[in-house]
Amino acid sequence: MGSESGNAYHIAQQQFDLAAEWLQLPEAQRAVLREPQRELTVRFPVKLDHGGVRLFTGYRVQHSLARGPAKGGIRYHPAVDLDEVRALAMWMTWKCALMNLPYGGAKGGVVVDPAQLSSDELERLTRRFTSEVSLLIGPERDIPAPDVNTSAQTMAWMMDTISMQRGHTVNAIVTGKPVAVGGSLGRSDATGRGVWLMAREWARRTGRALGECRVAVQGFGNVGGGAARLLAASGCRMVGIADVSGGYRCRTGLDIATMQAYAASAPHRTLAGYIQPDIERCSAAEILETPCDILIPAALEHQLTDANADRISAAVIIEGANGPTTPEADRALAARGVTVIPDILANAGGVIVSYFEWVQGLQSFFWSEAEVNQRLEQIMVAAGETVYNLAIARGITWRLAAYLIAVRRVADALAIRGIYP
Ligand code: NAD
Repeated sequence: MGSESGNAYHIAQQQFDLAAEWLQLPEAQRAVLREPQRELTVRFPVKLDHGGVRLFTGYRVQHSLARGPAKGGIRYHPAVDLDEVRALAMWMTWKCALMNLPYGGAKGGVVVDPAQLSSDELERLTRRFTSEVSLLIGPERDIPAPDVNTSAQTMAWMMDTISMQRGHTVNAIVTGKPVAVGGSLGRSDATGRGVWLMAREWARRTGRALGECRVAVQGFGNVGGGAARLLAASGCRMVGIADVSGGYRCRTGLDIATMQAYAASAPHRTLAGYIQPDIERCSAAEILETPCDILIPAALEHQLTDANADRISAAVIIEGANGPTTPEADRALAARGVTVIPDILANAGGVIVSYFEWVQGLQSFFWSEAEVNQRLEQIMVAAGETVYNLAIARGITWRLAAYLIAVRRVADALAIRGIYP
Protein backbone atom coordinates (compact mmCIF):
# COMPACT_ATOMS: atom_id res chain seq x y z
CA MET A 1 0.00 0.00 0.00
CA GLY A 2 1.21 3.52 -0.75
CA SER A 3 4.64 4.77 -1.80
CA GLU A 4 7.89 2.85 -1.70
CA SER A 5 8.82 4.35 1.70
CA GLY A 6 5.39 3.27 2.93
CA ASN A 7 5.62 -0.25 1.53
CA ALA A 8 4.39 -2.39 4.41
CA TYR A 9 6.26 -5.49 3.23
CA HIS A 10 9.59 -3.67 3.14
CA ILE A 11 8.89 -2.34 6.63
CA ALA A 12 8.02 -5.84 7.90
CA GLN A 13 11.25 -7.15 6.39
CA GLN A 14 13.29 -4.36 8.02
CA GLN A 15 11.75 -5.19 11.38
CA PHE A 16 12.58 -8.87 10.86
CA ASP A 17 16.16 -8.10 9.70
CA LEU A 18 16.84 -6.14 12.87
CA ALA A 19 15.65 -9.02 15.07
CA ALA A 20 17.52 -11.60 12.96
CA GLU A 21 20.72 -9.58 13.39
CA TRP A 22 20.29 -9.35 17.18
CA LEU A 23 19.58 -13.09 17.32
CA GLN A 24 22.46 -13.89 14.92
CA LEU A 25 20.13 -16.19 12.99
CA PRO A 26 21.86 -18.44 10.45
CA GLU A 27 21.60 -17.19 6.84
CA ALA A 28 19.39 -20.09 5.73
CA GLN A 29 16.81 -19.34 8.43
CA ARG A 30 16.86 -15.64 7.58
CA ALA A 31 16.21 -16.44 3.93
CA VAL A 32 13.26 -18.71 4.80
CA LEU A 33 11.62 -16.28 7.22
CA ARG A 34 12.18 -13.07 5.22
CA GLU A 35 9.63 -14.11 2.59
CA PRO A 36 6.28 -15.91 2.60
CA GLN A 37 6.11 -19.67 2.15
CA ARG A 38 3.04 -19.61 -0.14
CA GLU A 39 1.18 -16.92 -2.10
CA LEU A 40 -2.04 -17.34 -4.03
CA THR A 41 -3.45 -14.61 -6.30
CA VAL A 42 -6.99 -15.12 -7.59
CA ARG A 43 -9.06 -13.22 -10.18
CA PHE A 44 -12.73 -13.92 -10.20
CA PRO A 45 -16.01 -12.56 -11.62
CA VAL A 46 -18.98 -11.45 -9.53
CA LYS A 47 -22.51 -10.85 -10.85
CA LEU A 48 -23.76 -7.34 -10.02
CA ASP A 49 -27.34 -6.59 -8.92
CA HIS A 50 -28.26 -4.59 -12.00
CA GLY A 51 -26.85 -6.99 -14.57
CA GLY A 52 -23.25 -7.15 -15.69
CA VAL A 53 -20.20 -8.73 -14.15
CA ARG A 54 -17.15 -7.25 -12.42
CA LEU A 55 -13.76 -8.87 -12.08
CA PHE A 56 -12.02 -8.77 -8.68
CA THR A 57 -8.51 -9.63 -7.50
CA GLY A 58 -7.83 -11.32 -4.16
CA TYR A 59 -4.91 -12.83 -2.27
CA ARG A 60 -4.14 -15.41 0.39
CA VAL A 61 -0.57 -15.48 1.67
CA GLN A 62 0.83 -18.00 4.16
CA HIS A 63 4.03 -16.59 5.59
CA SER A 64 5.06 -19.53 7.79
CA LEU A 65 3.64 -22.90 8.76
CA ALA A 66 6.57 -23.80 11.03
CA ARG A 67 4.55 -23.71 14.29
CA GLY A 68 1.19 -24.96 13.02
CA PRO A 69 -1.66 -24.15 10.64
CA ALA A 70 -1.67 -20.63 9.24
CA LYS A 71 -3.91 -18.02 10.89
CA GLY A 72 -4.90 -14.53 9.82
CA GLY A 73 -7.68 -12.22 8.72
CA ILE A 74 -9.28 -11.27 5.41
CA ARG A 75 -9.31 -7.57 4.45
CA TYR A 76 -11.60 -5.84 1.93
CA HIS A 77 -10.10 -2.50 0.87
CA PRO A 78 -9.38 -0.70 -2.41
CA ALA A 79 -5.68 -0.32 -1.46
CA VAL A 80 -5.06 -4.02 -0.77
CA ASP A 81 -2.09 -5.35 -2.75
CA LEU A 82 0.19 -8.36 -2.57
CA ASP A 83 2.92 -6.56 -0.59
CA GLU A 84 0.43 -5.41 2.04
CA VAL A 85 -0.93 -8.94 2.44
CA ARG A 86 2.63 -10.32 2.68
CA ALA A 87 3.44 -7.89 5.47
CA LEU A 88 0.24 -8.64 7.36
CA ALA A 89 0.92 -12.40 7.02
CA MET A 90 4.44 -12.00 8.40
CA TRP A 91 3.19 -9.96 11.36
CA MET A 92 0.68 -12.75 12.08
CA THR A 93 3.53 -15.29 12.31
CA TRP A 94 5.31 -13.21 14.96
CA LYS A 95 2.08 -12.40 16.82
CA CYS A 96 1.05 -16.05 17.12
CA ALA A 97 4.56 -17.05 18.19
CA LEU A 98 4.74 -14.25 20.78
CA MET A 99 1.44 -15.44 22.29
CA ASN A 100 2.68 -19.06 22.06
CA LEU A 101 -0.33 -20.11 19.96
CA PRO A 102 0.23 -23.25 17.83
CA TYR A 103 -0.16 -21.33 14.57
CA GLY A 104 1.81 -19.92 11.68
CA GLY A 105 0.86 -16.64 10.04
CA ALA A 106 -1.34 -15.83 7.04
CA LYS A 107 -3.44 -13.00 5.65
CA GLY A 108 -5.86 -12.47 2.79
CA GLY A 109 -7.53 -9.62 1.03
CA VAL A 110 -9.69 -8.54 -1.85
CA VAL A 111 -9.17 -5.28 -3.76
CA VAL A 112 -12.61 -3.77 -3.30
CA ASP A 113 -14.37 -0.82 -1.71
CA PRO A 114 -17.21 -2.65 0.05
CA ALA A 115 -19.14 0.61 0.49
CA GLN A 116 -19.73 0.53 -3.29
CA LEU A 117 -21.40 -2.92 -3.20
CA SER A 118 -24.79 -4.05 -1.94
CA SER A 119 -25.04 -6.71 0.73
CA ASP A 120 -26.05 -9.30 -1.91
CA GLU A 121 -23.03 -8.39 -4.05
CA LEU A 122 -20.73 -8.63 -1.03
CA GLU A 123 -22.14 -12.05 -0.24
CA ARG A 124 -21.51 -13.27 -3.80
CA LEU A 125 -18.00 -11.77 -3.75
CA THR A 126 -17.24 -13.45 -0.41
CA ARG A 127 -18.54 -16.84 -1.50
CA ARG A 128 -16.63 -16.81 -4.79
CA PHE A 129 -13.40 -15.59 -3.11
CA THR A 130 -13.79 -18.35 -0.50
CA SER A 131 -14.21 -20.93 -3.23
CA GLU A 132 -11.06 -19.62 -4.98
CA VAL A 133 -8.92 -19.77 -1.81
CA SER A 134 -10.39 -23.14 -0.74
CA LEU A 135 -7.21 -24.56 -2.31
CA LEU A 136 -5.38 -23.33 0.78
CA ILE A 137 -7.78 -22.97 3.70
CA GLY A 138 -9.04 -25.62 6.12
CA PRO A 139 -9.33 -26.18 9.89
CA GLU A 140 -5.97 -27.92 10.05
CA ARG A 141 -4.36 -25.90 7.24
CA ASP A 142 -5.22 -22.21 7.32
CA ILE A 143 -8.00 -20.51 9.30
CA PRO A 144 -9.18 -17.00 8.21
CA ALA A 145 -10.83 -14.38 10.46
CA PRO A 146 -12.23 -10.84 10.08
CA ASP A 147 -10.04 -7.80 9.43
CA VAL A 148 -10.71 -4.33 7.99
CA ASN A 149 -14.18 -4.15 6.38
CA THR A 150 -15.03 -7.79 7.05
CA SER A 151 -17.21 -8.98 9.89
CA ALA A 152 -18.83 -11.94 11.64
CA GLN A 153 -21.33 -12.05 8.74
CA THR A 154 -18.47 -12.36 6.22
CA MET A 155 -17.10 -15.29 8.25
CA ALA A 156 -20.54 -16.95 8.31
CA TRP A 157 -20.69 -16.77 4.47
CA MET A 158 -17.17 -18.23 4.24
CA MET A 159 -18.02 -21.07 6.63
CA ASP A 160 -21.27 -21.82 4.79
CA THR A 161 -19.54 -21.84 1.38
CA ILE A 162 -16.92 -24.39 2.46
CA SER A 163 -19.62 -26.41 4.28
CA MET A 164 -21.71 -26.56 1.08
CA GLN A 165 -18.68 -27.71 -0.93
CA ARG A 166 -17.85 -30.45 1.58
CA GLY A 167 -21.44 -31.52 2.26
CA HIS A 168 -21.21 -31.04 6.02
CA THR A 169 -20.82 -28.13 8.44
CA VAL A 170 -17.16 -27.16 8.93
CA ASN A 171 -17.27 -24.73 11.86
CA ALA A 172 -13.55 -24.52 12.54
CA ILE A 173 -12.63 -23.30 9.02
CA VAL A 174 -12.89 -19.64 10.11
CA THR A 175 -13.01 -17.75 13.40
CA GLY A 176 -14.81 -14.55 14.32
CA LYS A 177 -18.13 -16.20 13.33
CA PRO A 178 -21.46 -15.22 14.85
CA VAL A 179 -22.08 -17.09 18.13
CA ALA A 180 -25.16 -18.72 16.57
CA VAL A 181 -22.95 -20.70 14.16
CA GLY A 182 -20.04 -21.71 16.37
CA GLY A 183 -18.49 -18.35 17.21
CA SER A 184 -16.96 -17.78 20.63
CA LEU A 185 -18.43 -15.54 23.26
CA GLY A 186 -16.05 -12.62 23.75
CA ARG A 187 -14.56 -12.76 20.21
CA SER A 188 -16.12 -9.56 18.87
CA ASP A 189 -14.64 -7.54 21.77
CA ALA A 190 -11.38 -9.46 22.07
CA THR A 191 -8.95 -7.22 20.16
CA GLY A 192 -10.26 -4.05 21.81
CA ARG A 193 -10.16 -5.82 25.20
CA GLY A 194 -6.52 -6.73 24.61
CA VAL A 195 -5.68 -3.10 23.80
CA TRP A 196 -7.50 -2.04 26.97
CA LEU A 197 -5.53 -4.61 29.03
CA MET A 198 -2.27 -3.20 27.65
CA ALA A 199 -3.38 0.33 28.61
CA ARG A 200 -4.32 -0.85 32.11
CA GLU A 201 -0.97 -2.61 32.59
CA TRP A 202 0.99 0.39 31.24
CA ALA A 203 -0.83 2.71 33.66
CA ARG A 204 -0.14 0.35 36.58
CA ARG A 205 3.55 0.09 35.70
CA THR A 206 4.01 3.84 35.32
CA GLY A 207 2.07 4.70 38.48
CA ARG A 208 -0.82 6.42 36.71
CA ALA A 209 -4.52 6.02 37.37
CA LEU A 210 -6.04 4.74 34.10
CA GLY A 211 -9.22 6.71 34.81
CA GLU A 212 -7.23 9.96 34.78
CA CYS A 213 -5.69 9.39 31.35
CA ARG A 214 -6.70 11.25 28.19
CA VAL A 215 -7.06 8.96 25.17
CA ALA A 216 -7.17 9.52 21.40
CA VAL A 217 -8.13 6.70 19.00
CA GLN A 218 -7.73 6.59 15.21
CA GLY A 219 -10.15 4.01 13.76
CA PHE A 220 -13.61 3.38 15.20
CA GLY A 221 -14.34 -0.14 13.98
CA ASN A 222 -13.97 -3.48 15.66
CA VAL A 223 -10.62 -2.66 17.30
CA GLY A 224 -10.77 1.12 17.86
CA GLY A 225 -14.45 1.15 18.78
CA GLY A 226 -14.06 -1.77 21.20
CA ALA A 227 -10.99 -0.27 22.89
CA ALA A 228 -12.63 3.17 23.13
CA ARG A 229 -15.73 1.72 24.79
CA LEU A 230 -13.72 -0.17 27.43
CA LEU A 231 -11.39 2.77 28.11
CA ALA A 232 -14.37 5.15 28.47
CA ALA A 233 -15.95 2.64 30.88
CA SER A 234 -12.69 2.75 32.91
CA GLY A 235 -13.17 6.51 33.31
CA CYS A 236 -10.65 7.68 30.68
CA ARG A 237 -11.30 11.05 29.06
CA MET A 238 -11.76 10.28 25.33
CA VAL A 239 -10.40 13.45 23.76
CA GLY A 240 -10.23 12.31 20.12
CA ILE A 241 -11.79 9.73 17.79
CA ALA A 242 -11.29 9.41 14.05
CA ASP A 243 -12.70 7.15 11.40
CA VAL A 244 -12.64 7.26 7.61
CA SER A 245 -14.88 10.37 7.72
CA GLY A 246 -12.25 12.37 9.67
CA GLY A 247 -11.44 13.36 13.26
CA TYR A 248 -13.67 14.45 16.18
CA ARG A 249 -12.06 16.16 19.16
CA CYS A 250 -13.42 17.37 22.50
CA ARG A 251 -11.23 18.54 25.41
CA THR A 252 -13.83 17.65 28.00
CA GLY A 253 -14.40 14.16 26.61
CA LEU A 254 -16.44 12.53 23.86
CA ASP A 255 -19.52 10.41 24.53
CA ILE A 256 -18.37 7.08 23.08
CA ALA A 257 -21.67 5.23 23.55
CA THR A 258 -23.58 7.91 21.62
CA MET A 259 -20.96 7.98 18.86
CA GLN A 260 -21.07 4.20 18.52
CA ALA A 261 -24.85 4.21 18.33
CA TYR A 262 -24.65 6.97 15.68
CA ALA A 263 -22.08 5.11 13.56
CA ALA A 264 -23.98 1.82 13.86
CA SER A 265 -27.13 3.38 12.48
CA ALA A 266 -25.47 5.51 9.77
CA PRO A 267 -25.11 4.37 6.16
CA HIS A 268 -21.79 2.53 5.79
CA ARG A 269 -21.28 2.72 9.56
CA THR A 270 -19.18 5.90 9.81
CA LEU A 271 -19.31 9.04 11.97
CA ALA A 272 -19.91 11.27 8.91
CA GLY A 273 -22.36 14.02 9.86
CA TYR A 274 -21.93 13.55 13.63
CA ILE A 275 -22.32 17.07 14.99
CA GLN A 276 -22.27 18.24 18.62
CA PRO A 277 -21.74 21.84 19.82
CA ASP A 278 -18.50 21.13 21.73
CA ILE A 279 -16.87 18.98 19.04
CA GLU A 280 -13.99 20.26 16.94
CA ARG A 281 -13.40 18.62 13.54
CA CYS A 282 -9.95 17.70 12.22
CA SER A 283 -8.50 15.20 9.75
CA ALA A 284 -8.01 11.51 10.59
CA ALA A 285 -4.24 12.13 10.48
CA GLU A 286 -4.43 15.14 12.83
CA ILE A 287 -6.16 13.03 15.49
CA LEU A 288 -2.76 11.42 16.13
CA GLU A 289 -1.41 14.80 17.28
CA THR A 290 -4.20 15.38 19.80
CA PRO A 291 -2.77 16.28 23.24
CA CYS A 292 -3.31 13.03 25.18
CA ASP A 293 -1.61 10.42 27.38
CA ILE A 294 -2.58 7.28 25.45
CA LEU A 295 -2.72 7.18 21.64
CA ILE A 296 -4.29 4.21 19.89
CA PRO A 297 -3.82 3.95 16.13
CA ALA A 298 -6.49 1.38 15.18
CA ALA A 299 -7.10 1.92 11.45
CA LEU A 300 -4.41 1.17 8.86
CA GLU A 301 -0.64 0.93 8.32
CA HIS A 302 1.80 3.79 7.92
CA GLN A 303 0.16 6.41 10.14
CA LEU A 304 3.07 7.36 12.44
CA THR A 305 6.02 8.33 10.25
CA ASP A 306 9.07 10.58 10.39
CA ALA A 307 6.73 13.34 9.14
CA ASN A 308 4.61 13.44 12.32
CA ALA A 309 6.53 11.50 15.03
CA ASP A 310 7.87 14.72 16.57
CA ARG A 311 4.37 16.13 16.98
CA ILE A 312 2.98 13.15 18.94
CA SER A 313 2.31 14.22 22.52
CA ALA A 314 1.16 10.88 23.96
CA ALA A 315 3.28 9.10 26.57
CA VAL A 316 2.36 5.71 25.15
CA ILE A 317 1.21 4.46 21.75
CA ILE A 318 -0.73 1.20 21.84
CA GLU A 319 -0.88 -0.25 18.33
CA GLY A 320 -4.40 -1.53 17.77
CA ALA A 321 -3.74 -1.52 14.01
CA ASN A 322 -1.14 -3.68 12.32
CA GLY A 323 1.91 -1.76 11.14
CA PRO A 324 0.84 1.82 11.98
CA THR A 325 4.40 2.94 12.86
CA THR A 326 7.35 3.09 10.44
CA PRO A 327 10.88 2.15 11.59
CA GLU A 328 11.91 5.85 11.28
CA ALA A 329 9.03 6.90 13.54
CA ASP A 330 9.92 4.08 15.96
CA ARG A 331 13.42 5.53 16.31
CA ALA A 332 12.17 9.12 16.68
CA LEU A 333 9.60 8.14 19.29
CA ALA A 334 12.10 6.03 21.26
CA ALA A 335 14.55 8.95 21.26
CA ARG A 336 11.81 11.12 22.81
CA GLY A 337 10.98 8.50 25.45
CA VAL A 338 7.57 7.60 24.02
CA THR A 339 6.71 3.94 24.71
CA VAL A 340 5.31 2.04 21.71
CA ILE A 341 3.46 -1.16 22.64
CA PRO A 342 3.80 -2.99 19.33
CA ASP A 343 1.03 -4.47 17.22
CA ILE A 344 2.20 -8.08 17.63
CA LEU A 345 1.57 -7.68 21.37
CA ALA A 346 -1.08 -4.96 21.64
CA ASN A 347 -3.64 -6.30 19.16
CA ALA A 348 -3.12 -10.01 19.83
CA GLY A 349 -6.40 -10.30 21.77
CA GLY A 350 -8.24 -11.08 18.53
CA VAL A 351 -6.10 -14.01 17.50
CA ILE A 352 -6.01 -15.34 21.06
CA VAL A 353 -9.79 -15.57 21.22
CA SER A 354 -9.83 -16.82 17.61
CA TYR A 355 -7.63 -19.65 18.88
CA PHE A 356 -10.14 -20.27 21.70
CA GLU A 357 -12.95 -20.30 19.11
CA TRP A 358 -11.07 -22.83 16.95
CA VAL A 359 -10.37 -25.06 19.98
CA GLN A 360 -14.02 -24.85 21.07
CA GLY A 361 -15.22 -25.61 17.52
CA LEU A 362 -12.94 -28.64 17.15
CA GLN A 363 -14.11 -29.99 20.52
CA SER A 364 -17.75 -28.92 20.06
CA PHE A 365 -17.58 -27.73 23.66
CA PHE A 366 -18.15 -24.05 24.34
CA TRP A 367 -16.95 -21.87 27.21
CA SER A 368 -18.60 -19.03 29.14
CA GLU A 369 -17.68 -15.42 28.30
CA ALA A 370 -16.11 -15.05 31.75
CA GLU A 371 -13.82 -18.02 31.06
CA VAL A 372 -12.84 -16.63 27.63
CA ASN A 373 -12.04 -13.19 29.08
CA GLN A 374 -10.10 -14.62 31.99
CA ARG A 375 -7.93 -16.83 29.75
CA LEU A 376 -7.39 -13.91 27.36
CA GLU A 377 -6.24 -11.70 30.23
CA GLN A 378 -3.90 -14.39 31.54
CA ILE A 379 -2.12 -14.82 28.20
CA MET A 380 -1.90 -11.12 27.31
CA VAL A 381 -0.75 -9.88 30.70
CA ALA A 382 1.92 -12.61 30.88
CA ALA A 383 3.13 -11.82 27.32
CA GLY A 384 3.22 -8.09 28.15
CA GLU A 385 5.28 -8.79 31.27
CA THR A 386 7.78 -10.93 29.34
CA VAL A 387 8.22 -8.29 26.63
CA TYR A 388 8.54 -5.47 29.19
CA ASN A 389 11.13 -7.38 31.25
CA LEU A 390 13.27 -8.12 28.18
CA ALA A 391 12.99 -4.51 26.95
CA ILE A 392 14.17 -3.21 30.34
CA ALA A 393 16.91 -5.83 30.77
CA ARG A 394 18.43 -5.16 27.30
CA GLY A 395 17.64 -1.44 27.09
CA ILE A 396 15.68 -1.93 23.83
CA THR A 397 12.24 -0.96 22.52
CA TRP A 398 9.18 -3.07 23.26
CA ARG A 399 8.95 -3.87 19.55
CA LEU A 400 12.47 -5.25 19.34
CA ALA A 401 11.95 -7.22 22.56
CA ALA A 402 8.71 -8.71 21.21
CA TYR A 403 10.44 -9.59 17.91
CA LEU A 404 13.39 -11.24 19.68
CA ILE A 405 11.01 -13.56 21.56
CA ALA A 406 8.75 -14.29 18.59
CA VAL A 407 11.39 -14.76 15.90
CA ARG A 408 13.45 -16.98 18.22
CA ARG A 409 10.42 -19.27 18.73
CA VAL A 410 9.75 -19.58 14.99
CA ALA A 411 13.44 -20.11 14.20
CA ASP A 412 13.62 -22.83 16.88
CA ALA A 413 10.61 -24.59 15.34
CA LEU A 414 12.29 -24.46 11.92
CA ALA A 415 15.54 -25.88 13.32
CA ILE A 416 13.83 -28.68 15.25
CA ARG A 417 11.73 -29.72 12.23
CA GLY A 418 14.71 -29.68 9.87
CA ILE A 419 14.57 -29.35 6.11
CA TYR A 420 12.40 -31.73 4.06
CA PRO A 421 13.38 -33.99 2.35
P1 NAD B 1 -12.84 -2.23 10.86
O1 NAD B 1 -13.14 -2.32 9.43
O2 NAD B 1 -13.77 -2.81 11.85
O3 NAD B 1 -12.59 -0.70 11.28
C1 NAD B 1 -11.67 0.12 10.63
C2 NAD B 1 -11.89 1.53 11.12
O4 NAD B 1 -10.87 2.39 10.58
C3 NAD B 1 -13.22 2.14 10.67
O5 NAD B 1 -13.73 2.92 11.72
C4 NAD B 1 -12.83 3.01 9.49
O6 NAD B 1 -13.75 4.08 9.27
C5 NAD B 1 -11.50 3.52 9.97
N1 NAD B 1 -10.64 4.00 8.89
C6 NAD B 1 -10.45 3.48 7.66
N2 NAD B 1 -9.59 4.25 6.97
C7 NAD B 1 -9.22 5.24 7.78
C8 NAD B 1 -8.35 6.34 7.67
N3 NAD B 1 -7.67 6.57 6.54
N4 NAD B 1 -8.20 7.16 8.73
C9 NAD B 1 -8.87 6.93 9.88
N5 NAD B 1 -9.70 5.91 10.06
C10 NAD B 1 -9.87 5.08 9.02
O7 NAD B 1 -11.36 -2.87 11.02
P2 NAD B 1 -10.71 -3.47 12.35
O8 NAD B 1 -10.99 -4.93 12.37
O9 NAD B 1 -11.07 -2.63 13.53
O10 NAD B 1 -9.16 -3.32 12.01
C11 NAD B 1 -8.43 -2.11 12.27
C12 NAD B 1 -6.95 -2.44 12.39
O11 NAD B 1 -6.77 -3.40 13.43
C13 NAD B 1 -6.31 -3.06 11.15
O12 NAD B 1 -4.96 -2.66 11.09
C14 NAD B 1 -6.38 -4.55 11.43
O13 NAD B 1 -5.43 -5.30 10.71
C15 NAD B 1 -6.07 -4.54 12.92
N6 NAD B 1 -6.50 -5.74 13.66
C16 NAD B 1 -7.79 -6.17 13.65
C17 NAD B 1 -8.15 -7.29 14.41
C18 NAD B 1 -9.56 -7.78 14.51
O14 NAD B 1 -9.80 -8.70 15.31
N7 NAD B 1 -10.52 -7.25 13.78
C19 NAD B 1 -7.17 -7.94 15.16
C20 NAD B 1 -5.86 -7.46 15.17
C21 NAD B 1 -5.55 -6.34 14.43
